[in-house]
Amino acid sequence: MIRSLLRPGVLQLLKPNIAAASYSTAAIPNPITEPEIKHTGIFINNEFYKSESGKQFPTVNPATGEVITMVEEGDKADVDKAVKAARQAFALNSEWRQMDASQRGALINRLADLMERDRVYLASLETLDNGKPYTNSFMADLHLSISNLRYFAGWADKIHGKVIPTDGPFFAYTRHEPIGVCGQIIPWNFPLLMQAWKLGPALATGNTVVMKLAEQTPLTGLHVASLIAEAGFPAGVVNVIPGYGQTAGAAISSHMDVDKVAFTGSTEIGHLIQQAAGASNLKRVTLELGGKSPNIIFKDADMDYAVEQSHFGLFFNQGQCCCAGSRIYVEDAVYDEFVERSVERAKKRSVGNPFDPNIEQGPQVDGVQMGKILELIDSGKKEGAKMLCGGNRYGDTGYFVEPTVFADVEDHMKIAKEEIFGPVQQIFKFSDVNELIERANNTIYGLAASVFTKDIDKANLFAQGLRAGTVWINCYDVLNAQTPFGGYKMSGQGRENSEYALRNYLEVKSVITKLPAKNS
Ligand code: ADP
Repeated sequence: MIRSLLRPGVLQLLKPNIAAASYSTAAIPNPITEPEIKHTGIFINNEFYKSESGKQFPTVNPATGEVITMVEEGDKADVDKAVKAARQAFALNSEWRQMDASQRGALINRLADLMERDRVYLASLETLDNGKPYTNSFMADLHLSISNLRYFAGWADKIHGKVIPTDGPFFAYTRHEPIGVCGQIIPWNFPLLMQAWKLGPALATGNTVVMKLAEQTPLTGLHVASLIAEAGFPAGVVNVIPGYGQTAGAAISSHMDVDKVAFTGSTEIGHLIQQAAGASNLKRVTLELGGKSPNIIFKDADMDYAVEQSHFGLFFNQGQCCCAGSRIYVEDAVYDEFVERSVERAKKRSVGNPFDPNIEQGPQVDGVQMGKILELIDSGKKEGAKMLCGGNRYGDTGYFVEPTVFADVEDHMKIAKEEIFGPVQQIFKFSDVNELIERANNTIYGLAASVFTKDIDKANLFAQGLRAGTVWINCYDVLNAQTPFGGYKMSGQGRENSEYALRNYLEVKSVITKLPAKNS
């Protein structure tokens, strides 16, 4: 039954998982539909605490709109406490700073082992709190999170500087040192994966962490916090705070004793993070922000495959992906056929209870996001784009939105420019290839792009000409630990994953020693 769910695009993302963890597509363990909520506190120094203010906030099941549980609400006082713990853990003579680099790697691997042990529980909790289908949580989010941690565990004892030939009688080398206390602020669309993307490189390089979870989805991150203690990380190395952005998040980005802030979220908040860093202690900043990624379909592309990949590239994760292929440019000769087939496919998309293995699409994360999506759909209709299916809330419980397809979208329309972050596909027509590169690049964003064609020259031309951090050729959403991910322009600064991510967590120190005079 599950096998039939795994259409080509999804399979592509999930396949490595199947090999790595020996789960066959037909044998995903059953979810725990009512997972026990074990942790709701603020995690500092390997212990869970109540908030200093005594405040709590609700986290909601987006499939029903019901409160799952109340969670401690971290604020500035809790951030101060966590930063103090992280600073202490970073002291020169601390256990963490004195630890062998290989042992650091072993601890990160141990954390990955514990996530593997609790995989069904974590995937179930992710589905409950975020709404994404359990099959995706289990096969994609958990696999990618675990393998990301393992990838960075491998780096821990392979980070080193260079010996540099220097003028004069001097011996020079560089030390690649951890930056210090790293603030990390993560979003709600891939709670576990974003946590892993941030923790892996920060810990492999020997930093300490104060992480703020997204207020919509704090539960899995708190369970991982308990696994950090269980794995044996020294107290204070990782501190995890559930709470709101304007309070706890802002306290991190403006903190005078936080050395670096890494943020994933909207471009709007990215501006604030950078401003806060600039106005406080000029902490280092890395940002992974929004996108409006072009997905280009040439007439020579394999039509079935291109339709399915474009569907996957937009609708995966309820359309809540920063790299969603949300501007689909189709060559005029195959435009009508592509539109017709895309609509057919969207109409077949199964929407409903995310714990049901036949369901491809769960609810949006909350009512605010659902409202924004419905407003943007409205603006698309008003501006004259042709809505060919969907367009409404799905049902009247929870925050579901019908899979929606717009054709005849024009570059000037709001839905062509703004990130919708929902299950809304937008299809544009093109006829002039030269003009197309300019149209594709005519956006404030530059996160990802893709091209579907059998013509290698066209593929190469676009791989070179598109201003985006990732260009997929004849595929979409292929993300793994080894390849860098991040944005050009207002899609961000710095790169996540890969060796490049390590650079964002290191200071480079030059050490220059005078050599004795040469023997004559
Ligand atoms: P979205 O619009 O997708 O919810 P946001 O950019 O608002 O994304 O949120 C991403 C993360 O940033 C969340 O953890 C949120 O709490 C946090 N955040 C929101 N506002 C601020 C802020 N002013 N300062 C720091 N963090 C913030």
